[in-house]
This record gives sequence, structure tokens and C-alpha cells, in this order.
Amino acid sequence: MSLASLPPFANEPYRDFSLPENREAMERALARVRADLGRQYPLLIAGLHEPGGIHKLLSYNPSYPAELIGVHQKASADQATRAIEAAYHYFPIWAAVPAEDRAARALRAAHILRQRKDEFNAWLILESGKNWNEAEADTAEAIDFCDYYARQMLRLASPGPLLQLPGELGVLTYIPLGVGVILPPWNFPLAILAGMTIAALVTGNTVVLKPSSETPTIAAKFIEVLLEAGFPPESFQFLTGAGSEVGDLLVSHPKTRFISFTGSKEVGLHINELAAKTQPRQKWIKRVVAEMGGKDAILVDREVHDLDAAAAGVIASAFGFQGQKCSACSRLILDEPLHDAFLAKLIPLAEALTQGPADDPAHFLGPVISQRAEKTILSYIETGKQEGALLTGGHKAPGDGYFIRPAIFSGIEHNHRLFQEEIFGPVLAVTRARDFDDALRLANDSDYGLTGAVYTTNPEKIARARAEFHVGNLYINRKCTGAMVGAHPFGGFNLSGTDSKAGGPDYLLQFLQAKSIAQKLL
Ligand code: NAP
Repeated sequence: MSLASLPPFANEPYRDFSLPENREAMERALARVRADLGRQYPLLIAGLHEPGGIHKLLSYNPSYPAELIGVHQKASADQATRAIEAAYHYFPIWAAVPAEDRAARALRAAHILRQRKDEFNAWLILESGKNWNEAEADTAEAIDFCDYYARQMLRLASPGPLLQLPGELGVLTYIPLGVGVILPPWNFPLAILAGMTIAALVTGNTVVLKPSSETPTIAAKFIEVLLEAGFPPESFQFLTGAGSEVGDLLVSHPKTRFISFTGSKEVGLHINELAAKTQPRQKWIKRVVAEMGGKDAILVDREVHDLDAAAAGVIASAFGFQGQKCSACSRLILDEPLHDAFLAKLIPLAEALTQGPADDPAHFLGPVISQRAEKTILSYIETGKQEGALLTGGHKAPGDGYFIRPAIFSGIEHNHRLFQEEIFGPVLAVTRARDFDDALRLANDSDYGLTGAVYTTNPEKIARARAEFHVGNLYINRKCTGAMVGAHPFGGFNLSGTDSKAGGPDYLLQFLQAKSIAQKLL
């Protein structure tokens, strides 16, 4: 198999759930998955399932907190150590498998996910509280990552020619790094987990995958896909358990070669620091790929083309998946002359958003992920009431789940906590800007630098935003969420991360090292 023999990469299309056949297929999948709830899932170490001890990790449905989704093992320190050792032992075997064969397995994983799309959507709806369309996008992105990274590996397997010196044959090859610890977040429990894991495996590394404790069942289902796709069970270890308990051990182990992390700034910085400390018997500088939080801003300029389209873009960016996206718009910077008119459009749109259990497709908004998240978000809403004016929402919505009505605050200043701190929930802070200069200055007044958007028709202002708005993913005249694999390589500046650009042509290089070979021709 070669890159030329494959059709060009294309994004997996989203289905329309207003069509009866799609809707009925999802209803059936939800019923099938519901019949499978509450099962126990083992660890996977050195190719063998391990039942774990008495300590279990229980995962519940945030829409109906009494509904048990899965029972998982809390890995012990011994199991975590054995997982690293097993990955280290198998590394030379997996690294020797030709890139074409590894890529073929990634393509098979995409194919299997495509066949099981409804089922994965259903797990996402029930375990993470995504609405149907968000779940469909998450599964489609997982498929895209598998399809895209397979192709990128094939490209890197045949790097272009080097300058050839007389009497010498020079080549450059990319070889894998070693054992990777994969630490994904819960908010794209399938897509990000699949992308991080497949990228490491397709490049020839072996991994220890420790999923988020909020969404371990989706991770366990993805493990089934890896096995079915033909990845050897020894090439990936599946280790559930609290990051706070086994994380440090995995990161600091001398045989860990790299850490691929996506999550909060606090945990990412801790991992970065720990990984930088060379351990006894460690032979390399560990590589850390860390994608972290955001405090993403949308600027609406007085020369906006269409206020309604901008308001719809802000609503989708701020409140899609209850604002629990790293790319979510949490700061809205409004140019003075349109401030009041824009809010007058925005507030009714937020108030009209339907909310309730995510398994009902009538609901745009579902729950936040956990009781702990609900408490943190409600406490930020109290802070917001001190710092600015609550214009709408911010209270619990009816139901047993963790439902919070989308909150919009005006009068937020650049030094307020609502302006600076990632809340990761349906809370939008609105700030007034004197003019475009002021708006840009406010947008850049953040430790983060992940996504941002500008709505304006003025070409000079667009040019300035392109040059001066310091974010890894900038959008002009559109929402700041919804990055597509292949089209919007994703990763942030500043304390948003290492700018790894997931879903882009450079991403896999972070899982490889380049070897340069010069052979004297005899
Ligand atoms: P998190 O609490 O930082 O956790 C992320 C992962 O790290 C989880 O698997 C977690 O396991 C693990 N972990 C926790 N403590 C650890 C430790 N000491 N050592 C090693 N691993 C540890 O983040 P989250 O709440 O899952 O995700 C939300 C955050 O992710 C937000 O800040 C969001 O902005 C960010 N995010 C960023 C991107 C991006 O591309 N930039 C994308 C998505 C999300 P446990 O669950 O067991 O604690």
C-alpha cells in the first residue's frame, strides 16, 4: 500500500438526524447500548486482560446521575509500572513493523469506527452528555484522525531526497521514539483519545493509554476497535485509574520516552515539570506534547457584515457542548457602538436554547460532566455576579442531571477572574472595547492563546487580526469552535500548549525522531 494508492483524505460527513432513517438508527443504538450498561472492563497489560483489585472506578451518566455506565479498574502502582515495562519490552517488535502495515491498521480502525458510528455516538451521549450532533461530530473526528494519520505516516515513510554529495548516498528516515504515555481529556472522549493514541501507534511507538476517569467506557470501547483493527495487544496497554494516583509514576518512569497529554493547564504544567527531571537510569530527554486550556475570545467589530450570523456564531461557540470545549468562546469583546444591539440579539438566542437529558435529540444543551464541574461552574457564576452583571441564565435547570442554564455576564474587565480563568462551562463574559485597537489588546490579554475569532468586513482590520491576534487557531467571520482534521490543524500558543497542531501535516513528527545516514560509495 502506498499513499498514491489511497483516495485523497476527506472528512467523514455528518448525518442529518431530522431524517427518519438516521433518527431511528440512533434510537436503536441507544437502546442497544443501554442494554449493555454497567459492565466491568479489565485492564490490558502485556497483551493480557487483568481484572484489577477491589478498588473500582464507576462511571455514571451526567444526564441521569444514577445510571451506571461502566465499572472500571483502578490500576495499582505495580500495574502501572508493569504497563510501562511491557510497552518497553514490545517496542522493538512493533517499531520493526513496516510503516505501510501500521498505516493499514489505522485505516482499518477508521473503517470499524464508521461501521459502529451509531453505537459510539450512543456511548458518547450516555457517558459524556453530548447531544446527538456533538456526538456525531466526535465520532466523525475520530474516524478522520485514523484516516488522516495513516496517510501522513505513509508520506513520512518516504521522505523527499536530500542533497547528494559526490561519492555519498545520503538518506533521512523517521524512526519512532519509544514508550509513550497517552493522557487524554474527557471532553472529546473518543476523538482526542483516538487521535493521540493512533498517532503514537502508527508512527511505531508503543503506548500506555490512561483515559480520563470521567469517560473510561468510551475508551474501553475504542480498545476493542484497536484489537479488531489488528494492532497487537502488546503494543498498547490500557490502564484506567485516577491520574492523580498513577499519573506521576507513568510520567516519571525512566523508560517513558514521551508524554502526549491533552487537558488542563495545571495538570499539563505539572507533567511538563516532572518529565523534565532526569531520573536515574533514564537515557533521553523526555518529549512532552501538551495541549491545554483556553480562554478564547470572539471580537465583534462595528464593521460586521451580519449581526445575526455573528450572534449565531457566538452562541454556537460559547454554548455548544455546554461550553466544555477548549476552543469555546468564553470572552466576547464587543466594539462600543454595537455593544447593546448585539446583546439584545444574543440574550434571546441563549434563552431559547433547549436543555435536558442528552439522549433526547430535542435538547441542544445537556448536562455538564459531573457534580464537581457543576459546583465549580456555579461558584464562578457567583464570582461573576460580583465582577459584572448577570444578564441571563446561570442557575440550575430542572432535572436530576447537572444542568446549568447558559450564563452571560456584561461589564467584565480585563483583570476580572471571569476574563482570565478557564471555567469550562456555559459562561460567557462580555467586555466592551473602545475600538478595534482596544479589542485586539483585550483579546491578547491572556495567558492562553488557543482559538479566537473576529467578525469584521474591513480588510485592514482582518490583516491586523491575522498578524496580531496571538492564537494558534484564528477564525475570521465564523465561529471559533469546530476545527476540522486536515483543514484546521489544531493547537495553542502560550499556556494553551505546545502548539502540536493535531490533525495537521506536522503532527506526527512529534512522535518520531529523524535519523540522517550518509554512506560512502565504495
Ligand atoms: P485534566 O483534569 O487535566 O485531565 C486530563 C488527563 O490527565 C486525564 O486523563 C486525567 O486523568 C489525567 N491526569 C490528571 N492528573 C494527572 C497527573 N498528575 N499525571 C498524569 N495525568 C493526570 O483535564 P480534563 O478535565 O480531563 O479536560 C479538560 C481540560 O482539557 C480543559 O482545560 C480543556 O481546555 C483542555 N482541553 C484542551 C484541548 C486542546 O487541544 N488544547 C482539547 C480538549 C481539552 P483523570 O481523569 O484520572 O484525572
